[in-house]
Amino acid sequence: MIGELSRLLGESRRAVVFTGAGVSTESGIPDFRSPGGIWTKYQPIDFREFISSEEARRETWRRKIAVDEAVSRAEPNRGHRAIAQLVAEGKVSSVITQNIDGLHQRSGVSDEQVIELHGNGTYAACLECAQRYELAEMFAAFKASEEPPACECGGFIKSATISFGQPMPLQAMRRAQAESKSCDLFIAIGSSLVVYPAASFPAVAKQNGSRLVILNREPTDLDYLADLVLNLEIGPTLGEVTGIE
Ligand code: NAD
Repeated sequence: MIGELSRLLGESRRAVVFTGAGVSTESGIPDFRSPGGIWTKYQPIDFREFISSEEARRETWRRKIAVDEAVSRAEPNRGHRAIAQLVAEGKVSSVITQNIDGLHQRSGVSDEQVIELHGNGTYAACLECAQRYELAEMFAAFKASEEPPACECGGFIKSATISFGQPMPLQAMRRAQAESKSCDLFIAIGSSLVVYPAASFPAVAKQNGSRLVILNREPTDLDYLADLVLNLEIGPTLGEVTGIE
């Protein structure tokens, strides 16, 4: 089975990798839907609630501080390193990710080659003027006052991620669509493929003549579309394919 992935990569001239939370579990960041995942602890706060309720903003910042204590210590794992190697070899043109942890960039993939569909949780930004803010500064101010941070322009400051109910980032969506249309091999890794519109890209690739590989511990709803489904662990599998330890 793993040999089949190596063969498809060997035949590909332009591959795209698409990742979900599963690629980062081996770095110690829990995914959403596995037992013990983030959803078993917290109900997500919808974007409209964040905008309309000061208490929702306060709760969002409390959670962000709690989650960040684990996430900020995470290092890229073997799966990230293997993907970075495929990008460095020119085999993979870009990495479309649902993740917000910045670990693809930390493993050596350039910012230009990572398409973040759900934003980036390693910094914050004003929802009005997009001014960037560093988390350490925001956390210190919030811990001192329990006031949700606001920008000089008056806008609310929020982690630079896309919440449920928040519009998708237009440029990232356009780039992901173009990459999905122009690849000949689309490899979906560590995603349950149930969060839309992100999960539409495997089908876009397939409809445009690409082969589709799904590497995920559990079956997904899109397995029926795939040329190859590998229900395996990500790090060991990609490590074997690339020779990365
Ligand atoms: P998901 O939790 O719905 O699915 C993750 C999938 O990965 C699961 O099906 C699980 O079986 C599989 N998996 C987990 N560890 C694996 C491993 N080591 N090897 C093989 N398979 C493994 O995640 P999703 O599809 O990315 O959707 C959830 C949303 O949550 C995304 O939009 C993402 O933005 C966000 N999220 C991000 C992070 C992060 O940035 N690291 C973490 C949690 C959630």
